[in-house]
Amino acid sequence: MSDTSALDLGKSAVVIGDKASSVRPRSKLMVAGSLAFFILLMIATLRIASALVHQAVERDASRRSLEWAEFAISQAPHIANLAEGLPIKTEDWETFKNLTDFAGVFRFKIFSADGVLRYVSDDFNATGEDLGKHNPLASGVVSSGQPFTSVEDGRNKPNRPNLYSETYLPVFDNGRMVAIAETYMDQTNKTAAVRREYAFVGAAMMGMIGLALLIPSIGIWLMFRRINLKNIELKKSQTRAQASDKAKSEFISTVSHELRTPLTSIKGSLDILISGKIIDLSGPAQRLVAMAAKNASILNLLVNDLLDFEKLDTGNLEMIKRPTDLTSLLRDELEILETYGPHQHIEYRLFGDDSALLANVDPDRIAQVIRNLVSNAAKFSPVGGKVEVSVQQSDGSIRVAVGDTGCGISEADQGMIFERFTQVDSTNTRKHNGTGLGLAISKAIIQAHDGEIGVISAVGEGSVFYFILPIGIGSDNEAAGLLKVA
Ligand code: ADP
Repeated sequence: MSDTSALDLGKSAVVIGDKASSVRPRSKLMVAGSLAFFILLMIATLRIASALVHQAVERDASRRSLEWAEFAISQAPHIANLAEGLPIKTEDWETFKNLTDFAGVFRFKIFSADGVLRYVSDDFNATGEDLGKHNPLASGVVSSGQPFTSVEDGRNKPNRPNLYSETYLPVFDNGRMVAIAETYMDQTNKTAAVRREYAFVGAAMMGMIGLALLIPSIGIWLMFRRINLKNIELKKSQTRAQASDKAKSEFISTVSHELRTPLTSIKGSLDILISGKIIDLSGPAQRLVAMAAKNASILNLLVNDLLDFEKLDTGNLEMIKRPTDLTSLLRDELEILETYGPHQHIEYRLFGDDSALLANVDPDRIAQVIRNLVSNAAKFSPVGGKVEVSVQQSDGSIRVAVGDTGCGISEADQGMIFERFTQVDSTNTRKHNGTGLGLAISKAIIQAHDGEIGVISAVGEGSVFYFILPIGIGSDNEAAGLLKVA
């Protein structure tokens, strides 16, 4: 059956429609997926930004504590004495008290080089040689010789800013660790500033990512919308095509049925007239009636083809399969064509196995295919041309080929001639009669037998039309038994 027929067009439209109908839930899924991805991305970015702020504040605190320690040593050269618990002059105490003037430092402590607390800047009572409060963090710095900083939340602690840093710094004198200085710095404002900066950068990044996602998302959404609209259009035209196809089939069927009865009667009457049983016709009258009878035959053929095709189209052409000897079927058909076919002095030849070749087929329908191929071969051959028919069995199938020495068919046309109502020469002035349905019907019949039909042809040299049918009969014994019956 034709691939571009209205019915098939309907079928392909159904497929496209099916695909497109699944587009809507898929697009919803994609939107939900994109949204979830966007939210996850935002959470991850916020977490990364917060960790980066924390790190930045710690780095800043550590750097400023270092600066403070250098400043403190330059301002209080007796820091080593203080850490060792040696007595300090009264004027030097004043210098220590003023050390908190360094930006951000609100408290500091001095430990001895072995981690014993010696001095607390805002609690003079806590000073003294015998405090002996060991601090694990200070001890850690004593053993590693490396500074240590942490940023702490002071909101639930008394006398603490909301956010502060606690830094332990080893103090060296001539390469020897002489003290550990612990500084407390208010990081509240600094952190707020850093957060603002990161928030700005983060917002800019999110905006860019959002834009980067939004633009293709809009594109995809528009594409799906277009597909949906096209799908609706397609469904409408599919319904229209199906309705028009149905109306066309019904029209063909009705007209053909209505034509067949009067046509049979006309043809019968003309045949009787030609036979001369009723009346002796004069020469010209005889020719006129013969021409009318010939045209009535052509019309009859057309009506039969149309009816067959309508049955095939609606799946009503029944195949009554039985074991059939294809060799004798071919021989019989060739004999009929030789006797009653167009008189172009065509030479018909049958090649191949002379023995019976059995296949499980509908003999009437396969005979119809053979008739169509052989009469086409004769029709498109020059006067005196040759039509060679061969039949061969191989690997569970039988191949029948009909070769001619006619006009041949171009490669482009070979792909079209099996479609209904297709003729290579479809002009009004064409030389040969025909409906353009014979090959389409033959193809449908062969396909109904799970077979294959095709053509090999070269323009100006001729054509070989062939069909391959599965034998469809089990064992050789079964075939032999069936042969007897056949
Ligand atoms: P038609 O009734 O026109 O013969 P068919 O379906 O049998 O319809 O064939 C379709 C067309 O294929 C023909 O009109 C002709 O153009 C081409 N064709 C079929 N058989 C042959 C052949 N043996 N040689 C050349 N052309 C052929």
